[in-house]
Amino acid sequence: MSLAADTSAPADARTGDSFDSLDPSSGRVLGTYPVHSAAQVRQAVARAREAALWWQAQGWDGRRRHLRAWKGVLARGIHELADLVHLENGKPHADAVLEIVLAVDHIEWAAKHAPKVLGPHRVPSGLMAANMAASVEYQPFGVIGVIGPWNYPVFTPMGSLAYALAAGNAVVFKPSEYTPGVGRWLEQAWQQAVPERPEVLQVVTGLGETGAALTRAGVDKVAFTGSAATGRKVMASCAEDLIPVLMECGGKDAMIVDDDADVKAAADAALWGGMSNAGQTCIGIERVYATDKVYDAFVAELTAQAKKVRPGSDAKASYGPITMPGQVDIISRHIADALASGGRATTGGTIDGAYVSPTVLVDVPESSSAVREETFGPTITVARVRDAQEALQRTNATSYGLAGSVFSGSKARGMQIARQMRSGMTSVNSVIAFASVPGLPFGGVGDSGFGRIHGPDGLKEFTRAKAIARQKYALPTPLLSFARSPRLTDQLAKVIGLVHGRS
Ligand code: NDP
Repeated sequence: MSLAADTSAPADARTGDSFDSLDPSSGRVLGTYPVHSAAQVRQAVARAREAALWWQAQGWDGRRRHLRAWKGVLARGIHELADLVHLENGKPHADAVLEIVLAVDHIEWAAKHAPKVLGPHRVPSGLMAANMAASVEYQPFGVIGVIGPWNYPVFTPMGSLAYALAAGNAVVFKPSEYTPGVGRWLEQAWQQAVPERPEVLQVVTGLGETGAALTRAGVDKVAFTGSAATGRKVMASCAEDLIPVLMECGGKDAMIVDDDADVKAAADAALWGGMSNAGQTCIGIERVYATDKVYDAFVAELTAQAKKVRPGSDAKASYGPITMPGQVDIISRHIADALASGGRATTGGTIDGAYVSPTVLVDVPESSSAVREETFGPTITVARVRDAQEALQRTNATSYGLAGSVFSGSKARGMQIARQMRSGMTSVNSVIAFASVPGLPFGGVGDSGFGRIHGPDGLKEFTRAKAIARQKYALPTPLLSFARSPRLTDQLAKVIGLVHGRS
């Protein structure tokens, strides 16, 4: 498989009918891709609709076989795909490998568990319908439109792609304009694995308008991952045709470090959670609340560890450049606001082109944009709090609610704090760990979105529940009929009075 497509097209095209994918470390053109028009997106969806019939006819076993073949192409091409992720997104090759490993694991989980989670289940029919056999099964929607971001261009969309496919849907995927090559690679891997019906998974490329066109192209559901601002636009567009949506949006995740926490481990996790992938992680740690007892030790440890990590594009760099040029301005504004409002950088705070140094900010007021808005850069604010209760109150004082982390020496207390965190996911004595457990649902609350990818919930997300009640035998006097006798109504009222009337 080639790493970059259509490189012969004009190199400076960012508008018109093609656009370039650029290496964020150098601005070098990696490939040129078509801007698919609304009509072309519609055609892709029409092809997918036809292919969905074939895909559904494959049954659980057939789909599992094809998904495993796709997984095999990814697993065998892991370094090639990781190179491409490194080129388009900027993250180190090793981090790209990790991302792909997790994605492969999700394909296997979805393929393996789909029959059990989604297949027909008997449901107790209850007193009123004792003569009925009741069952529920989860049927595919048909065609899912997936709109993905650039920060984890394999792992993040895979939470929709693998689960939607395993549930029996065809998919049209619009990758971010910053990582079209990765999207194309996944499509080509599918074509290689399932040559009989390549249209089951198609990729359309382009800018925001192509994503917008996908929401209006006749898909049965849209799975969106990206910023809350774009998510609102996607929802508004889908509302026109009552198209259901899955929203995986941004976050401002916090870590709580409690009195008896292992401070060294917490600092290590905060650093990785906050600065890997240059901080461009939706479930990354952007804020830390450390209790009075551990604050000084935590800041000293985090600062010391942060001084050892370094951005760059070479093989030994800890993290890469900022992928989207425009994001550098946001990071710079947040750091400036933190410093101007009384904060201090214990390390970092500098920006060199697309490279932001690892930045630890302390004494930053809660009103600062560095604490309130999604920064999406390698910066962490650390605040001193009285106790875990105050940490929770500050953690939850945000419109976002994606994920978070708790460090505590006590299992019970760690779990208690985790439960009270207003977020879809929390790790205890770890960071981002939930994302590596395929059986756990992934998603947020509030401005972080709704709906879930991964796990049984993630499979069900791409289906509609179908209820079937089958009469096993006819009642002597039918209940659901104009032929119902008044005597039966009286008997029914008496039975209900006996069963439910006593409480
Ligand atoms: P954006 O919201 O800018 O874009 C997301 C996707 O939507 C891109 O493919 C984009 O295309 C497309 N798009 C843009 N405009 C429209 C439109 N009007 N209609 C339909 N689609 C459109 O987000 P980013 O790509 O910058 O991703 C970063 C954001 O994603 C962060 O907020 C991050 O927290 C969040 N995120 C959330 C995750 C989660 O699971 N909750 C996981 C990963 C990231 P194009 O790029 O071509 O403009």
